[in-house]
Amino acid sequence: MADHPTLFLPGPTEVDLELREIMATPLVGHRSAGFVAATQQLCARLKPLFQTTANAAFETCPATAMMEAAVRNLVPHGGMTLHLAGGAFSERWATIAGACGRKPESLTATWGTAHDPQQLKERLQKGHKPAAVMITHNETSTGVLQPLRELAAVVREHAPEAMVCVDAVTSLAGADLQFDAWGIDIAFAGTQKCLALPPGLTVFALSERALRAAANVPDRGFLFDFVKAVPETVSGKPLATPCVPLVFALLRQLERIEKETLPARFARHHEMRAAMRSWAQQNAIEPYVSAEAARSPTVSCYRASGRDVKAMAERASNAGYKIDQGYGDLKGKTFRIGHMGDHTVARLQACLKSLL
Ligand SMILES: *Cc1c(COP(=O)(O)O)cnc(C)c1O
Repeated sequence: MADHPTLFLPGPTEVDLELREIMATPLVGHRSAGFVAATQQLCARLKPLFQTTANAAFETCPATAMMEAAVRNLVPHGGMTLHLAGGAFSERWATIAGACGRKPESLTATWGTAHDPQQLKERLQKGHKPAAVMITHNETSTGVLQPLRELAAVVREHAPEAMVCVDAVTSLAGADLQFDAWGIDIAFAGTQKCLALPPGLTVFALSERALRAAANVPDRGFLFDFVKAVPETVSGKPLATPCVPLVFALLRQLERIEKETLPARFARHHEMRAAMRSWAQQNAIEPYVSAEAARSPTVSCYRASGRDVKAMAERASNAGYKIDQGYGDLKGKTFRIGHMGDHTVARLQACLKSLL
C-alpha cells in the first residue's frame, strides 16, 4: 500500500507528489518580484484553460465565496436570479442569492437528470427576465453534466441582458468548457477538484460585458469587488495576501495540463467514466444518472443496488482508497467515485477492484 490513502473522492482529489513538493518549498513574500511575476503568469495561463481571451484571475477562497461574489457583483440588490437547480450545489447557489438580498427563482430538474434547454426557453419566454442565470455545469452531488453550451445559448437568445454564471468547480480541466464561444459571463473552479491541488484558490474567468455590468452594481463589497480585484490581480498585485504556495503549485499544474493538452485530458476523463460504467455493468450496479449523455466524466454516482455502501467504502479504505458514500439524502443509497484531476484508468481500475 502507498504511504497514504489515495483519494477517489469528488473533491478534494488526489495531489501528485511533485505538486506537494512545490508547496513545501520555503515561502517568499507576496510582494517580491518573483511572486509578482508568478501571479501575472498564472492569470495569463488561466485564459487557455477557460478557452477565453477575456479576463482570468484568482482569489484565495473556497469556490462557495465565488458563488457569492458572482451574485454581489453581477446582480443589483433586489434583482432576480434564475437557478437551474436539481442538486446540492445548484440549490446552495439559490440560498446564497437569497442571503444576499436578491430574489432567487429556481427551474428545478429531478435530481439525477439534466436540464432541458427547451424548458429553459419556455421559462425565459414567459416575460419575467432574470438579471442572471446560474448554471452548475457539473452537479457533483448527483454526477450530472449539464448541456452547458445549449443552455447558455438559450439564455443569450431569450434573455440577452442576463448574465450567464457558471459553477465549473468539477468541470473545469475535466470537461470541455468554451467560455468565449459559448457566451459565458463568469465561470469559476476551486483548486481541489479537477485541478488536483489542495483547496485554497478559486480561479475564474469574467467577460468584458460582466465587468461593465459590475461597475453599475452598487455595494459590491471590498475583497471580491471584481472592478478592483481583477485588474489588481492580473497586474500581479492582489489586494490581500494570497496563498503563495498554491500559486506556484497551480502554475506548475497548468504547465502539466498544457503538455497533456486539453483534448487529451478530456478524453482521459471520458475513458475513466467508461471504465467505471463497464465495471458497474459487470457487477449489476445501476447508474444513478439514467441518461448516458448526462453522466459526468469527472464524478460517477451509482446506486447501492442491494450492496452495503459502507462496507464497500471500508474495503476500499483497507486497500488504500477513499471513496464517497453518497451526498446528503443519498448517503448509503448511492456512492460516488471522483475520477478527476490526475487519475488514470489503471489507477481507477485498481480502486474498483477493491470495492466488492
Ligand atoms: C465542491 C463544489 C463546490 C464548493 O466548493 P468549496 O470550495 O467547498 O466552496 C461548489 N460547486 C460544486 C459543483 C462543487 O463540486
